[in-house]
Amino acid sequence: MLIKTAEFVMSNSDVEKCPKNTLPEYAFIGRSNVGKSSLINMLTNHKNLAKTSGKPGKTQLINHFLINKNWYLVDLPGYGYAKVSKSSKKRFQKFITNYFEKRAQLVSAFVLVDIRHEPQKIDLEFMEYLGISEIPFSIIFTKADKLKPNAIIRHVDLYCQEFLKSWEALPPYFVTSSSKDIGREEVLEFIDSTNSEINAMRKSLGT
Ligand code: GDP
Repeated sequence: MLIKTAEFVMSNSDVEKCPKNTLPEYAFIGRSNVGKSSLINMLTNHKNLAKTSGKPGKTQLINHFLINKNWYLVDLPGYGYAKVSKSSKKRFQKFITNYFEKRAQLVSAFVLVDIRHEPQKIDLEFMEYLGISEIPFSIIFTKADKLKPNAIIRHVDLYCQEFLKSWEALPPYFVTSSSKDIGREEVLEFIDSTNSEINAMRKSLGT
């Protein structure tokens, strides 16, 4: 997919205030510091669309970006940052679960995991939550440039094995590196073909 335009639309913490139209949207989420802002900047070909910052836990809002004027990329706050208070963690959980449970336009989520680490409980639990809530998701492994090719294969394999302990099948997954521009086309192609399927389905339903 060629990215022709990528525009920031709005930030808020209330799902009811998100854009009202019916364009399909894709949500990006993961632990703080997983490389989400860098990935969004790589995907959209922008140096600074999502803020890349050294301060984990900084983006605490639902951020909508309009891509090619036909789909939304949604940047959600990073989870699992130890230094936020319990009350702000609760507030965070509430608006994120509200988003996932009420946002009809949400087509699919991308859960980002750092390829270097062993499967983390918080990520697996979050994916379980998505499964229970019947929200389709894919896994995006980030920072692949930090591992040698053999280690990439080994880590992905281990992750899949761990995943299959509680799931019957694997979700789509992508190996990426924002520093080395790896995986960009694959993720964008996935979004593009999903958008085409949605359009075809809407057409056949006459909606
Ligand atoms: P976020 O908190 O999830 O949005 O993560 P950021 O995109 O701000 O990245 C966190 C840190 O990881 C920063 O120091 C980035 O430079 C670094 N980082 C992000 N993506 C990559 C990557 O693909 N490769 C490498 N080597 N570092 C990365």
